[in-house]
Amino acid sequence: MTNHSRPPLLKTLATPMVGAHDQEHSGHWEQLTELYKIDPHVLAAAAILSASVLPYVEGHRDRVIAVALILALQLLIRYVGDHMFRRRSHDAEVKPWLLGFIAISLLSGIAWGTSLALLYQGAGPEAQVLVLAVGCGIVQSCAARAYMAPASTVLLILIIVSIFNIAALSEGDWLMIPICLAYVVFQASYMTRLIGLEQARAAAEQQTGTLLLELAESNEKLRRANEQLIRHAATDGLTGLANRRSFDAELKTSVSEAKASGTPLSLLLLDVDHFKSFNDTYGHLAGDKCLEMVARMLQDECAAAGFYPARYGGEEFAVIMPQADRHLAESFAAQILHKATALDFSELALPSKPALTVSIGFATLERDEDTGRALISRADKGLYAAKQAGRNCARMVERTPTG
Ligand code: GH3
Ligand code: MG
Ligand code: MG
Repeated sequence: MTNHSRPPLLKTLATPMVGAHDQEHSGHWEQLTELYKIDPHVLAAAAILSASVLPYVEGHRDRVIAVALILALQLLIRYVGDHMFRRRSHDAEVKPWLLGFIAISLLSGIAWGTSLALLYQGAGPEAQVLVLAVGCGIVQSCAARAYMAPASTVLLILIIVSIFNIAALSEGDWLMIPICLAYVVFQASYMTRLIGLEQARAAAEQQTGTLLLELAESNEKLRRANEQLIRHAATDGLTGLANRRSFDAELKTSVSEAKASGTPLSLLLLDVDHFKSFNDTYGHLAGDKCLEMVARMLQDECAAAGFYPARYGGEEFAVIMPQADRHLAESFAAQILHKATALDFSELALPSKPALTVSIGFATLERDEDTGRALISRADKGLYAAKQAGRNCARMVERTPTG
């Protein structure tokens, strides 16, 4: 189902196409493609030719040959029109093609009307009934497509009926005039009803399209809100690093992967030294800023090394180091110690220059060590040892036989 409405094509003659709505524009091309199709004309010609069998048998051969020639010419014109329409340029305007359609459509009306009139004149009653029936069929099928170009269809029907009536009058069939008038009125009311239905269908289609668009927009908003929610649930609000929940999950995965692949895995725990006194000296807001700076520094260093930093809690941070053996972990810890002491607090405009340091404990996964908890426990012992050793240093705790 297309999601655009299709107002009657003939409206485009009254409205400039420049700046017209894109969907409406493509709807018009769709209708023109339908209108230019030659198939209904082949059917109409076949029907008229089948109705000419009786007149032919009755001896009106010249008339039948004339009808065949007229229909052949009409089909040729339609074929050329259809062919040219299919090969129109990409930037073609709707209006000229619509006018072209109206012109060849009126020619078709003249061809059908003349053919029917030629076959009716002088034919026997049976042949006349047959011709009349075929004429009604053609008019009916034109009316069924009237919703696309109502005015030109009415004109087409009037041409057919008028030419046919001239023949009927020449035969002395005066009764044919009121019958044809009634028939035209009947067709007009049928077309009006059909156009109404088509417009209601197009409006419903457009409304469905609008609703679908709104639904897609709401879904997109919902998707973004969900993404944000997931991000918030996984991220620490102050520093933007992974929070404790994400860290726990990541460590579990990293331990499983390291064990499965037999690759090393190290864990680093970092605690800001004397942070309570930092807060006491510079205030908690400056303390928050300080934690943000430590987090940013960790983020930068880890991004370069492919490690996973997280806020473990308070002024404590953790780094999961996949593929890192104890030597790599040791050099990374040294690098972090150095970067921490080199933090530039000038942007905080503090009354005095803080001497910030951090302490680090780290541990490397042993082959038969089975949980991340054991790794955390040893890194924590390392951190305690670093504090004991006077802070601003890193310590590693190796696994003892008891764990
Ligand atoms: P140590 O060198 O032994 O680690 O000393 P410390 O003062 O850093 O350790 P302690 O555990 O006594 O104090 C930690 C302080 O960190 C206390 C707490 O107010 C502060 N803190 C924890 N989380 C935050 C935070 O989000 N913002 C701020 N500004 N301070 C925090
Ligand atoms: Mg602490
Ligand atoms: Mg501390």
